[in-house]
Amino acid sequence: MATIYYDSDADLKHLKDKKIAVIGYGSQGHAQTQNLRDSGLDVLIGLRPGGRSYESAMSHGFSPVSIEEATKAGDIIHILLPDEVHVSVYDSQIGPHLRKGKTLSFSHGFNIHFKQIVPPDGIDVIMIAPKGPGTLVRSEYQRGGGVPCLMAIHQDASGTAKDTALAFAKGVGGTRAGVILTTFAEETETDLFGEQTVLCGGVSALIKAGFDALVEAGYQPELAYFECVHEIKLIVDLIYEGGLAHMRNTVSNTAEYGDLTRGPRVIDNHTRKEMKKILKEIQDGQFAKEWVMENKTGGVKFNALRKNEKELLLEKVGKELRQKMHWINAK
Ligand code: NDP
Ligand code: MG
Repeated sequence: MATIYYDSDADLKHLKDKKIAVIGYGSQGHAQTQNLRDSGLDVLIGLRPGGRSYESAMSHGFSPVSIEEATKAGDIIHILLPDEVHVSVYDSQIGPHLRKGKTLSFSHGFNIHFKQIVPPDGIDVIMIAPKGPGTLVRSEYQRGGGVPCLMAIHQDASGTAKDTALAFAKGVGGTRAGVILTTFAEETETDLFGEQTVLCGGVSALIKAGFDALVEAGYQPELAYFECVHEIKLIVDLIYEGGLAHMRNTVSNTAEYGDLTRGPRVIDNHTRKEMKKILKEIQDGQFAKEWVMENKTGGVKFNALRKNEKELLLEKVGKELRQKMHWINAK
């Protein structure tokens, strides 16, 4: 079982006379930074001037400086930029200013684990990764709670990296909900696997296949949309609240029987084998290599795939139907 840390395991004193430089003020940046500040810690924001988030940081009472200045001034440099830009920003504006005794910190392990960034000796390298979007990280903190975090130590030059990481997690609100000890490898590999096979890839492929099967059989696309797309939320909310058991207690007996007898025919041994193959491609670095290359070469394949998906019938039907569903904040 996992090692989980709570409030009483962490002490903010380990960050007391330290300056935390947060690089980036996007989804995670705005949330973590404000939580750290509200926890009484000294935070400085590093941003490129003229960007959209610069204004946002100013409006929240911060005075952002350049990424280089923030790196020079910070004891802890916490990188909250999109993962695809980490390497170029690190190489040009962060790496050259890292000095012995500083801590480099992340909320996702991709670039360290796959050696896209190789930090110098003499610094600590840690990860604090909230398991939720920035909006929730902020709103839960304000409510007095927190979002669970993952924590990992990649390099412990000071011998106190764990104290720093735990204090950081406390500052963000994570120890209020539980901070699970992991490694950069485990966080990165499970994160990629989850999003590829279940959360994003698996769910959207399942939705598309179900929708297509109904439409190809001559049913109205609007009904197919309700049955295979819209109602996913209802089911997911029940699972989120009380696991599969709560979902099954709530749906009809007919639905539950259909679930238990037909579900395993949809996700069968072939799918399970394919999942293992996908996991292997993550573990041996094949996926990382492909994704890094895709970004380096202008994302041609990525953009083509994105364009295809926008033209799906289920997207058109959904857009139409959602316009009259006023309780949905129509996007
Ligand atoms: P965002 O896409 O929201 O980050 C946006 C920020 O990055 C903005 O401040 C933006 O500045 C800046 N930025 C973007 N490109 C550049 C660039 N080329 N040079 C300088 N600054 C740039 O990132 P997230 O918050 O989503 O993710 C940050 C980290 O947190 C990632 O490692 C991610 O994996 C991790 N994470 C994210 C979660 C999430 O829910 N989003 C959950 C858990 C972890 P500007 O306004 O100038 O464009
Ligand atoms: Mg994830």
